[in-house]
Amino acid sequence: MSDDDHDEHDHEHDHGHDEHDHGEHDHDDQAEAERRAIRQIALSQVRQYGDPVLRMRANEVEAFDEELTRLSDRMIALMHDADGVGLAATQVGILRRVFVFHDAGEDRIIVNPVLSSTGGGTEVDEEGCLSLGPVRMPVERSVEVTLEGVDAQGTSLRFDLEGLPARVVQHELDHLDGKLIIDRTDPESRREAMAQLRPRLALSR
Ligand SMILES: [Zn+2]
Repeated sequence: MSDDDHDEHDHEHDHGHDEHDHGEHDHDDQAEAERRAIRQIALSQVRQYGDPVLRMRANEVEAFDEELTRLSDRMIALMHDADGVGLAATQVGILRRVFVFHDAGEDRIIVNPVLSSTGGGTEVDEEGCLSLGPVRMPVERSVEVTLEGVDAQGTSLRFDLEGLPARVVQHELDHLDGKLIIDRTDPESRREAMAQLRPRLALSR
């Protein structure tokens, strides 16, 4: 799941500083340009809408080997570089039930995840997706969830989540079932999103 709300605002804010500050200002711009370049490189490694793999169901993980550790480490690095708050293995073309997410300042990896309970009613909020470019749309999710699974070594994990991290894990779990936010939003928002996504689709052919 993407979290690019803050980008443009931060940048605009930088330009509000006084004019005497040229050295630091150039430095900020350079750091910002670098960060954008890193984000672009990361996004080029994330499968984009129209890629059939995004519509496939990922398989249960059975082997807890070195390769799984490497995959989850790579996914965490990509999630950070892409400014995301979550990333599913499906999005890097690997059909295994693994996703990573950011929760309370920590990077989390979960393998063979299941939602063992949901509660607190539901809430509608805007979501973006690293596989859907800048398109955002309202999605209804459970407010509280309990997520269970194992880590990359096969040790049991359980997370009781509320609010944004609860939303993120529901989004990532959807990816493992080949589901995207355009399947979850209201018909009007879906039409708007599709109008933005179709030209992207044509360009990628
Ligand atoms: Zn997504």
